[in-house]
Amino acid sequence: MLVADTNACSFRAVPTGRGATIRAAVSRGVGLPPSIEDLYLDAPGPDEVRVVVEACAVCHSDLSYVDGTWATDFPLVLGHEASGRVADVGDGVYDLSTNDPVVVSLVRTCGECRACRKGHEVACTGNLSLNDRSPLSDVDGNRIPQGLNVAAFATQVVVHRSQVVRLPDGFNLVEASLLGCGVLTGSGAVTNTARVGQGDAVIVVGCGGVGVGAIQAARIAGAEPILAVDPEADKRKAAFGFGATHTVDPVGDDVAAAIRSATGGRLADHLLVTTGAPAALDGAIDLLAPMGQLVIVGMPGDDVTIDVAPSWLAATNKSILGSKMGGARVSVDVPALLDHHRAGRLDLDGMVSTTHPLDELEEAFGEVRRGEVLRTVILPNGSGDRDPADTPGVSV
Ligand SMILES: [Zn+2]
Ligand SMILES: [Zn+2]
Repeated sequence: MLVADTNACSFRAVPTGRGATIRAAVSRGVGLPPSIEDLYLDAPGPDEVRVVVEACAVCHSDLSYVDGTWATDFPLVLGHEASGRVADVGDGVYDLSTNDPVVVSLVRTCGECRACRKGHEVACTGNLSLNDRSPLSDVDGNRIPQGLNVAAFATQVVVHRSQVVRLPDGFNLVEASLLGCGVLTGSGAVTNTARVGQGDAVIVVGCGGVGVGAIQAARIAGAEPILAVDPEADKRKAAFGFGATHTVDPVGDDVAAAIRSATGGRLADHLLVTTGAPAALDGAIDLLAPMGQLVIVGMPGDDVTIDVAPSWLAATNKSILGSKMGGARVSVDVPALLDHHRAGRLDLDGMVSTTHPLDELEEAFGEVRRGEVLRTVILPNGSGDRDPADTPGVSV
């Protein structure tokens, strides 16, 4: 999730050879349901890959655009947490073959700029062709931007090679889609940004897909205790299954008292706010132990601010850290997550609450808006058939 500024595309057409006609969900304005349309997808250019999308999870960032929380220009095609199979590769791509199963992420990197060389791939400043053009056009020839660099609420996408990670053969592609954003972001906030260690007290505010990714990563890191904070009873119940040692209802419970109790009065070493709800930030800094970190992962609306007393921050050695995409390094972090999954430490299946065909995207958006699901996954080339009751601890 969580990139508010990356769908700026000019409309320079790129002549290509082997394009494709695809079906895509086009968002044409705030509050409007997406319309399913036939679009033309250019063939992949140099260092680009065309992928047949098998699964694309709905992320809160998609809703931030269609609901108007974040400003954007319309139309555009959203969907950025995806998996699929390679259909075609452009010049210079030698390590992928047709039909290879892959994760597709929104993090697009050049590998050569100063940020990339320092491992700060989410801050890449490289001048990649897809940053300036969209490979999508409608029946009238108008270019349609790729929302958040991918546009995977569609039967196929063209993305940069850096956005694709090869999966092991046989890996469940519905589960794999979560590695493209939600789990990548939540786990990255724990490992890359906060660098959570053994025995650290971790508070995760917001227990959707990103929050559960963070909870699982905190458990893998040996954090103790791990408090999950969410107003939804079903999500709190589910959080236990993913590694939370305590849960807190921010509406009905005294959050500060619960954190003091769980930590023996020590308070939080790391407090990760994975929701964009402004209330989640109220007083968060006061729940940190000395040397503690407030890690802001979820992105509230552009007009939200917080008050902090700088002297108090300095006197207690507390810090506030931003965590865009969990500081993800796709080529490193996705394989690490695959290793955790292979070893039974990372549960992806339990995070998929529902699946839907592309035609039901607006219904899936509704499930996310109402907080009913950990993750709902769109199957652009198939039919959704997973029942919410299949997800432990989540009912609708
Ligand atoms: Zn996302
Ligand atoms: Zn770069």
